[in-house]
Amino acid sequence: MKLDFTGKVVLVTGASRGIGREIALQFAGSGARVAINYRGNRQAAEQTRADLAGDGHMLLQSDVSDPAAVESMTQAAIREMGQIDILVNNAGIAIEHPIADIGFEGWHEAWQATLATNLVGPANLSYCVARQMMERGGGRIVNVSSRGAFRGEPDFPAYGASKAGLNAMSQSLAKALAPHNVFVFVVAPGFVETDMTAEILAGPMGDSVRNQSPLGRVAVPEDIARTVLFLASDGSEFLTGCIVDINGASYLRT
Ligand code: NAP
Repeated sequence: MKLDFTGKVVLVTGASRGIGREIALQFAGSGARVAINYRGNRQAAEQTRADLAGDGHMLLQSDVSDPAAVESMTQAAIREMGQIDILVNNAGIAIEHPIADIGFEGWHEAWQATLATNLVGPANLSYCVARQMMERGGGRIVNVSSRGAFRGEPDFPAYGASKAGLNAMSQSLAKALAPHNVFVFVVAPGFVETDMTAEILAGPMGDSVRNQSPLGRVAVPEDIARTVLFLASDGSEFLTGCIVDINGASYLRT
């Protein structure tokens, strides 16, 4: 089934690299115009834009953990693109902070930074973009969560908590926004081959991580992007509030 997003505008956060870049590529390949958000890596963001099919795309440098920057980024995207039909909250960070080894200052900083980027950022983006979607009569939000929300993250507890919070926020907003024709979905990947996981996948733990899945591999960004596009497509409305696991049966929950 070929999905068609012709005439749609998509804002993807963290689209300079990894999963966000692939989501941007697939949306553009399906006819959408894409606003590519990134934090600091302009070269990678420009490469993403250069690789997108079609034209009318834009770059948006902005730190999603900064509320003022989120508000002005949203305004800039709407000014230049005319509208935002689909928001993908993908930008995220993972900071290692094992409780047995880290000092209190480092612990606190890891929690602050992780929650600001992975939870409060998507909350603020959802606010700014959903208000415009409500005025225009509808839209879709897809949030990129993680298997870690369910499985526990012993060395990255703030990361697991931020993604559990993102899941809860998405379900609350799915209920609040459905009457306005705005639908909210979550994807929860396990390990994915990106910069975030390159070191662990290349190291001594790599094989055991790959063997968490009976498929004997981790996901590639294409696995995640395909599901994001499906959720953002017409006809998936009744899935609003869902959390779709994309983890190759590495962690099954009922
Ligand atoms: P990645 O390769 O590390 O890329 C991160 C992207 O997010 C980059 O584009 C980066 O921009 C951007 N970013 C980071 N902090 C930002 C901020 N404060 N404001 C704006 N942009 C910011 O990450 P990834 O592996 O693709 O992960 C993408 C999402 O999937 C994250 O939410 C992550 O938690 C989730 N996820 C990943 C995995 C995995 O195994 N990789 C598994 C489950 C869930 P710059 O290039 O400018 O730095």
